[in-house]
Amino acid sequence: MSKLASHYYLGDWRLEGGLSNATAVCDPATGHIIGLCPTMDHQDVIPQIFAAARASQRYWYHEVSIPEKQKIFLRIAKLFEKHRGELVWTMVKEGGKLWKWADAEVTEAIDTYTDYHGELNRVYSSRGVSRCQMQKKVVESYRKPKGVIFAIGPWNFPLAIIDAWKTAGALAGGNAVILKPAEQTPFTAQLGVELIHEAMRDVLETRFQNIANLVQLLQGKGEVTGKLILESGLYNKVVFTGGIDTGRVVASTAGRFIRECHLELGGHAAMVVLSDFDLERAIQEAIRGCLGDAGQRCVSTRVLWIPEHSFQTSLQRYIDLAKQFRVGRPDDFQTDMGPLVSKEQLDRVDDMVQKTIRQGGVCVLGGYPLNKDTVTRAKEEGLNFDEEAVCAGGYYYAPTVFVNIPCGVAAMDEEIFGPVICVNALPGCTLREEFENGVRLINRARQGLSNAILTNDAVLIKEAPFYIETGILYGRRGTTGAETNQDFGGVKDSGFGTEGRGIESFTDPMTYYIDLADEPRMAQAGEDEKIQRLLSSTKSPFFDFD
Ligand code: NAD
Repeated sequence: MSKLASHYYLGDWRLEGGLSNATAVCDPATGHIIGLCPTMDHQDVIPQIFAAARASQRYWYHEVSIPEKQKIFLRIAKLFEKHRGELVWTMVKEGGKLWKWADAEVTEAIDTYTDYHGELNRVYSSRGVSRCQMQKKVVESYRKPKGVIFAIGPWNFPLAIIDAWKTAGALAGGNAVILKPAEQTPFTAQLGVELIHEAMRDVLETRFQNIANLVQLLQGKGEVTGKLILESGLYNKVVFTGGIDTGRVVASTAGRFIRECHLELGGHAAMVVLSDFDLERAIQEAIRGCLGDAGQRCVSTRVLWIPEHSFQTSLQRYIDLAKQFRVGRPDDFQTDMGPLVSKEQLDRVDDMVQKTIRQGGVCVLGGYPLNKDTVTRAKEEGLNFDEEAVCAGGYYYAPTVFVNIPCGVAAMDEEIFGPVICVNALPGCTLREEFENGVRLINRARQGLSNAILTNDAVLIKEAPFYIETGILYGRRGTTGAETNQDFGGVKDSGFGTEGRGIESFTDPMTYYIDLADEPRMAQAGEDEKIQRLLSSTKSPFFDFD
């Protein structure tokens, strides 16, 4: 039985928006349609939705006390825990996420609300009172809500990114939020919003009606619903997670309205392993980093740089482990890697892989969708997979390895959002040479989200952050595993701004001067007599043409 996703706006769950323009939500494990995501395209109600959000935001900021907000945050965390099974199932079914990664995502969402619960005391309080430069004058610094945040999210972390990182940060900052999840995964975001509302109702009881539009949810296609809201310019800030090309559209539209914009975009994570590091451990990290979530993480490992002298043995070890990585249904406990999220994504990954091969890239493992047409080839290669699962019509892709891909070739420059890695030889005769080459090779990427350097050298490990251009850097481990209470964001084409420890990005600073003196005065204003003396003793640098 297929389900129909709903929008939530102006205080109600609604189905409007034209099913003729709906997106089919498919189970990535089988390709079967399991639901429909309607597209919200009612342009005329957008101003009402923002007005309602602003009314709720004012009540939330002024009338809901910090202890009440804290209770709501803890209650959301409790409800996420209570509905863990339902949330996990929803992510497994609509996103093809492995049960254990879906479970980890619920934990991440719970941790996010718990962390922000602690942060709430800090955010509204004054940042201290300082004496001004002038006598008898004080200055106070405040963080104020921005107003209404418009949040657009991707399909690969539907609960963590949309319902937790963006929503918890926006609410903690005292804002209202309008959510636009990805059309491929509307049900997780919807369940999350239902639980957030339930928590608010539990704590505020009848007062909930005053914040009924604090968290609104508009489902649909990015180029329709997303564009409609973006083009309204009615938000105070847009927070976006998704691809680089979409990020460009979001930033330029927000820029037209002089609205702040935060972009979490794609990455091209590299792992640089120096000769002094345990290679077996490095390869294990690379396997997890590349094949976990079938490579559909913005921080997934895309390039593994291995010292030249141990290159062949390390490459072989990676291939052996990739072959053992079991491909199968996401709800099977034996599975290590599930399907890609959609047919479109499967085609996109395969197109990039074929482009890399056409450009001369040497592919030594995989390089094809894993389905009934390719099982014989996959068996000959020695891949480990559940034959019945991969022949069921889903969107599986074989673990794929390219070798020594030069810069400029697709797999080395663009983000292939799938289980594909380039294993390349790292030149250098000494540790320092390897380090310097590794830094240079990481920095030449146009993206700068997550990267890793693996060495036991105490000096190089501390030098690395000063030289590597990246938002997130791992020392002595792979490129995945960010924690919820730390900054998360990229540099260069990976975007700007931070989430995670993000209260600052959801509030504006306000500076409040209080003058305790009675006479009118201005900072930096000099005394008339002194200025007169200065002017009469200095020649004007201009000629008078009259
Ligand atoms: P996408 O850019 O196609 O879509 C992201 C969101 O933008 C979706 O909700 C989509 O509906 C919406 N959208 C699309 N066109 C739009 C438009 N014209 N106006 C407004 N909204 C629009 O990305 P995706 O395929 O859903 O996600 C995969 C990408 O996300 C990858 O590149 C990945 O690296 C990136 N990502 C980044 C992070 C990070 O934190 N840096 C995290 C997860 C995913």
